[in-house]
Amino acid sequence: MNEQQLREGIVEVGRRLYARGYTASNDGNISTRLDDRRLLMTPKSVCKGFMSPDMMVITDLDGKKLSGDRDPSSEMQMHIEVYRQRPDAQAVVHAHPPIATGFAVAGIPLDRAVLAEVVTTLGSVPIAEYATPSTKELPEAVRKYVKAHDGMLLANHGALTLGSDLFAAYYKMETIEHFAHISLVARLLGGERLLSRQEVDRLQGLRGMYGIASPAPICPPSDVEGPDESPLGPSTSLRAGDPPSCQTVLAPETGGARLVRDAARGAVGKDGEIRLTYLELTALIEAAVRELK
Ligand SMILES: [Zn+2]
Repeated sequence: MNEQQLREGIVEVGRRLYARGYTASNDGNISTRLDDRRLLMTPKSVCKGFMSPDMMVITDLDGKKLSGDRDPSSEMQMHIEVYRQRPDAQAVVHAHPPIATGFAVAGIPLDRAVLAEVVTTLGSVPIAEYATPSTKELPEAVRKYVKAHDGMLLANHGALTLGSDLFAAYYKMETIEHFAHISLVARLLGGERLLSRQEVDRLQGLRGMYGIASPAPICPPSDVEGPDESPLGPSTSLRAGDPPSCQTVLAPETGGARLVRDAARGAVGKDGEIRLTYLELTALIEAAVRELK
């Protein structure tokens, strides 16, 4: 894409962010690589819903302004950090979509294995620790997660995504907000029924088939804590140990208390008989034995 097309792309992404309520007032910012030494980004203090292509600012990779009538986004350093850490990133989008930001405010990462397409594309969506916006603390908080994740929540702030072009980054923002919305509804209805670890492994094998592949593998089960027992509880909080080289996804091994609850809820026949496969029955007996010990 040439420079004019990139300018128009930023305008269109800004319009969509604002139209969908992902930003209010002058919130949010968008950037893209112009070439291997320059960035094109939204200016400071404009509503992203009403931009024109000529408003954009060109900076170098250290954030020094090279051209443009306006000043670059106040969150420029966060964008620059993403480009430094991820040579494959061509574009970065930051917004405050309300449901995902609600999870970020509540301290609940979107890291449960719930939707197949999210497991295969984004993987998990962690929360970068709180940092004052526009300070250098924010790029530092982002640095920890950006190598292994294409999207993250920013604690008490919003969300950040990156992609191979402007729209790829924007669509990841849509996916995060959609995932957050579905997770919220599921929690209101009694809690998500998680995909099993075996299914997550299978989905991981399908990564890349849809043209989008998350940047790091899912962490092996030993690195992951089990899901909180309370479906509505504060559940998973910030996990300090989220390693940069893999993604934390909560998925239970088949069996355990969760299966008992699911089996009792879902597989009861008309006559009150609970139907289980041989594997489920074995898992139930093993879980019961574990609890006796
Ligand atoms: Zn923000």
